[in-house]
Order: sequence, then structure tokens, then C-alpha cells
Amino acid sequence: MYRIILALGLLVLLYFLLRRTLREFKGLGEPDLLPPGKNHMVQDPVCKVFVPRGTAITEDIGGQTYYFCSRSCAHKFQEQLAG
Ligand SMILES: [Zn+2]
Repeated sequence: MYRIILALGLLVLLYFLLRRTLREFKGLGEPDLLPPGKNHMVQDPVCKVFVPRGTAITEDIGGQTYYFCSRSCAHKFQEQLAG
């Protein structure tokens, strides 16, 4: 009886270890291209939409960084600045 409980305990331990290893392996496979704070929300000054910084289009205009939801919004903004 004692042996069965021990074997079951080892199986459970093994299961958790395997699950953790798999999760770590998955984490290593993810691309790490996005900068830190990628989930920080930034506002598009053109259409006022909020987008995660990691997926936003960034433009450095006059020494300031602006974030846009799309290329067309970035283009529109530059056109507005130009007059
Ligand atoms: Zn936009």
C-alpha cells in the first residue's frame, strides 16, 4: 500500500515537473522582438485609438516619439504638421 502511494506521489511530481518544463520550453520559443513595456497603451493622436506600444507604429517627429495605430495615421499626422 505504501509503495502505491509513493508511486502516485512521484507520478504527480513528475507531471508537474513535465508541465513546467513544457511551459518553459514554449516560453523560449516565443519571439522576443518587442521592447519592454510593450503592453503599455499609447494613444494615436490622429484617430484617438489606444494601441499597445509593442504593436504601434512609431514615428520620431521633431525629437518626440509619436505612436500610431497604422501607417496611414502616421502619414496623416505628418501631413497635418506640414500644413
Ligand atoms: Zn489611427
